Amino acid sequence: MTDLHRLSIRELSEGLQQAQFSSRELTEHYLKRIAKIDAKVKSYVTVTAEQALVEADVADAAIKSGNAHALAGIPLAHKDIFCTQGIKTTAGSKMLDNFISPYDATVVAKAKAAGLVTLGKVNMDEFAMGSTSESSYFGATGNPWALDHVPGGSSGGSAAAVAADLAPIATGTDTGGSIRQPASFCGLTGLKPTYGRVSRFGMIAYASSLDQGGPMARSAEDCAYLMNVIAGHDAKDSTSVDKEVDDYVANLNGTAVKGLRIGIPKQYFNVAGLDADVKARVEESLKKLEEMGATLVEIDLNMTEAYVPTYYLIAPAEASSNLSRYDGVRYGYRCENPKDILDLYKRSRSEGFGAEVQRRILIGTYALSAGYYDAYYVKAQKVRRLIQQDFLKAFENVDVIAAPSAPTTAYKIGANLSPTEMYLGDIYTLAVNLAGLPAINAPVGFDKDSLPVGLQLIGNYWSESQLLSIVHQYQQNTDWHSKRAAIAEENA
Ligand code: GLN
Repeated sequence: MTDLHRLSIRELSEGLQQAQFSSRELTEHYLKRIAKIDAKVKSYVTVTAEQALVEADVADAAIKSGNAHALAGIPLAHKDIFCTQGIKTTAGSKMLDNFISPYDATVVAKAKAAGLVTLGKVNMDEFAMGSTSESSYFGATGNPWALDHVPGGSSGGSAAAVAADLAPIATGTDTGGSIRQPASFCGLTGLKPTYGRVSRFGMIAYASSLDQGGPMARSAEDCAYLMNVIAGHDAKDSTSVDKEVDDYVANLNGTAVKGLRIGIPKQYFNVAGLDADVKARVEESLKKLEEMGATLVEIDLNMTEAYVPTYYLIAPAEASSNLSRYDGVRYGYRCENPKDILDLYKRSRSEGFGAEVQRRILIGTYALSAGYYDAYYVKAQKVRRLIQQDFLKAFENVDVIAAPSAPTTAYKIGANLSPTEMYLGDIYTLAVNLAGLPAINAPVGFDKDSLPVGLQLIGNYWSESQLLSIVHQYQQNTDWHSKRAAIAEENA
């Protein structure tokens, strides 16, 4: 079969269970596509071809024996921030270019236990800091819709791999938008779960109170399948929550769009820098949801102006603490011929980290330093609480909140935005992480240059089923999610 890469996760699962094709055939199909097409997209940092085929054979045997998990034998790509035993885990950094983890992240272990086949590890902004994936030590990844554009970031490799049909699904992480924004830039569906829903164990830490892993795929249905595998409490992550996990697939039609109250924050649609095409496509998608029976309700989110400054204090502060472990001593990059221990620390860190990571370590260290702690870090934490309260107040009156995922479509590679320009592009995604809420991106059309536009729906805590269900029904009534970039139509 030449078009295995066009099948949804449900179709792949059915095809494998009914022996229409084997996991080995499917895995070889994807490996062939990667070998041919990824030279142009550059989404993979590491392809684990040999191991993938071994895993595929194991899955085939399990399927034959009749007691395999529904997703057994289906390939996936992991963001290179999830630790994988025996396979390099770089976090997009020179610092970890030689790092092989002695254990699997819980997300990786769960995927393995279900019999999913790992195709490899995909590119990302260095330590997940960025919005373009260009800060990766391994170079930029192309957006499958226009290879001279970025796929977004930081989970840009995950988004590009799925959008070019070089993996049917991928894992991503979202600290301030890194699942939703690349999903938006690449025309995909991506879910950032409630903080605590997916284990962070073995997920290289950027900002621990904000980081959350989640699925990136073509449709809400595909995302639901992966969520069923990766969600759940983990004793190895003290911030993961011991709460029953929904059956996200069974719940795909569980929320009625008819009667749903969708909040439209006044402040969000008047943001300077909101692209006219993005605004128009998002409004059209809301109109569609209205036709399907939802009610649009104008709401206030008064803290909007505080999102960017608050996040860009808290995230760098946590990063400066998390990244202090990379000191050239135990693992990671070590400079040549250090004079003494101070020289070892200094040079290992200045040679091993890229410019954006160093900038954030400096900002964070400054914000946490004794004289400035109250003025910056403590103040930011107080504002963070106000941002959360703003959302909770809104949810008293609406079921979900709609917004663009990003104010623009994908930038050109090398556009060289200043840090502040880049940070402002995160305006619609940051607050969700500051409040710990779940949110989803769904593709809703294209701009004048044929680049994808995304709609974001933000839900109350633990509303992943509801978000997936709303997007699933929208996708039953529209076909934006099934549009494919030309490069995905290429055969290997
Ligand atoms: N673009 C944001 C940042 O650079 C978000 C990144 C993320 O979610 N990992 O911090």
